[in-house]
Amino acid sequence: MLKCLNKSIGDYTQNGGGEATGILARKALMKDRKTRKEPANMNKTEAIPSTDFIREIIDGDLKVNKNEGRVATRFPPEPNGYLHIGHAKSVCLNFGIAEQYGGTCNLRFDDTDPSGESMEYVESIKSDVRWLGFNWNDRLFYASDYFEQLYQYAVQLIKDGKAYVCSLSPEEIREYRGTLTKPGKDSPYRARSVEENLDLFKRMRAGEFEEGAHVLRAKIDMSSPNINMRDPTIYRIKKIPHYRTGDEWLIYPMYDFTHCLSDSIEEITHSICTLEFENNRPLYDWVLDQLKVDCHPQQIEFARLNLSYTVLSKRKLVELVEKGHVTGWDDPRMPTLAGLRRRGFTPEAIQKFCERIGVAKRDSIVDIELLEHCIREDLNQRAPRVMAVLRPLRLVIDNYPEDKVEELDAPYHPQDPDMGSRKVPFSRVLYIERDDFREDPPKKFFRLAPGREVRLRYAYYVTCTGVVKDEQTGEVVEVHCAYDPKTRGGSSPDGRKVKGTIHWVSAAHSLPAEVRLYDRLFQVANPSGEKDRDFMRYLNPSSLETLTSGRVEPSLEGAVPGSRYQFERLGYFCVDPVDSSDRGLVFNRTTTLRDSWAKIESKEKSRD
Ligand code: ATP
Ligand code: MG
Repeated sequence: MLKCLNKSIGDYTQNGGGEATGILARKALMKDRKTRKEPANMNKTEAIPSTDFIREIIDGDLKVNKNEGRVATRFPPEPNGYLHIGHAKSVCLNFGIAEQYGGTCNLRFDDTDPSGESMEYVESIKSDVRWLGFNWNDRLFYASDYFEQLYQYAVQLIKDGKAYVCSLSPEEIREYRGTLTKPGKDSPYRARSVEENLDLFKRMRAGEFEEGAHVLRAKIDMSSPNINMRDPTIYRIKKIPHYRTGDEWLIYPMYDFTHCLSDSIEEITHSICTLEFENNRPLYDWVLDQLKVDCHPQQIEFARLNLSYTVLSKRKLVELVEKGHVTGWDDPRMPTLAGLRRRGFTPEAIQKFCERIGVAKRDSIVDIELLEHCIREDLNQRAPRVMAVLRPLRLVIDNYPEDKVEELDAPYHPQDPDMGSRKVPFSRVLYIERDDFREDPPKKFFRLAPGREVRLRYAYYVTCTGVVKDEQTGEVVEVHCAYDPKTRGGSSPDGRKVKGTIHWVSAAHSLPAEVRLYDRLFQVANPSGEKDRDFMRYLNPSSLETLTSGRVEPSLEGAVPGSRYQFERLGYFCVDPVDSSDRGLVFNRTTTLRDSWAKIESKEKSRD
């Protein structure tokens, strides 16, 4: 029991929880906003970005003046969902490289599959990339803008005898493809004449055939050990309106055909993608070689980010949203950038996280505690400290005058006097945290208990003189205390020590607030770890706890949506940008103060 108490409420002595704090919250917020606008600066003042195998390749290319010394990357999301923290890794990598080498990075929507794509997703992706701190300037592109050009490239392949219309059914195509151990066999349509292929492809475009009746395939090698090279489909019929091109197109190019050509059209030099595309690289090169394009970018693969206790696949994230397991893409439990932002994460913390995990060639799972560590580190510096009581218990100071109110000075940040301070009203009736009182205290419980003296943060020493209980349940509903007027400010002239310091708010002056405590969305480290088990079964049923009777100090009146605070001893909290309003404050817990990652790290260091 005690162990769990310690977990939920930190001690003042830990985690910078609070020697004192400083400016008007507004000032702190402005500072917050200022740094938010210029996240790149944060990186620039730090050490030169550490290198990795991709940067080493680029360095090598620059040495021999490959691409005339140009570095051009792109971030190519498909607008079929919101960006998640895995995408952030790719955004930081692509935009970061462009920034570092004085190159360019395009934002390109890879929108060639009309099912599931939408303008809502395009807009969300744009705003998330901007929020993360990156700017594509005028380099915004859509693969769908290349549809005509891609069609002409496909016609070129047909004319060169490098592509053919295949009329096998989807099942037959699969069957003919063979397996890893069995070579494929040629489609009976492989020998169609160029004229017939051109005619059929034109009629596919005109909408003469049903979906699945024909596809256009590259003519490569059905016995290739690489299955991707066994005459892959490069166009299929899809009679679904496209969110940008409407019903103009009834055939759509496949990823492997579109991606390399889009890269080439945009004169990308280094096309960075995730490891699962390694076996697609020969196809990427094949298409560009056959078409003899002027620009042939180099595809480089890196390991995608996997994060413990979460899923990072849009298909799975869509499922969580659509089945109502979360309130939306921006639910603060989601690993999406929209969710993390609403939870109180800063772009700087996410950039820092991406920098720390680095870029590797081998897949691994990153501990979510590293992400939590990064946000704590950032908020520890920038979040003003305030007092809030999440589960209130009335505390009455019997020897304090009934109508007296004192305004106590409380700094916003223990290490940053520039943040200033605010006045916190103190009066006869306060609220303290229910967990900070025990009628029958266990060993090492240094907070309030009958006969025990504690320090009220920034205020006085109080000694518990009695309790009032609910007659029916026996539950303590009120604690009575006597205060020592000579201890104002938190120390006593006679030098006597008290072991515990607890936070509080004045009952009459504090504001009501709803507080949402978030926990991990999944109960196991690797919810997608077992192929034949649905990841949904590992959902954490208590990933959200909503406390509706919280009380916060009056300085939080009108707190700006999205602004972030440390609630002393409790954790970092952010004003919910969606549900908080003048009618009622709503706070999201970004993270607790407990930092097990720091512990793990220091353990590892001491072992070295
Ligand atoms: P998902 O598997 O979540 O659906 P995706 O790869 O289909 O992701 P895209 O929109 O195609 O999503 O991704 C855009 C870019 O982001 C791609 O270059 C992709 O490689 C990269 N990316 C996606 N997920 C991750 C990840 N977990 N780690 C690093 N990069 C990623
Ligand atoms: Mg994709």
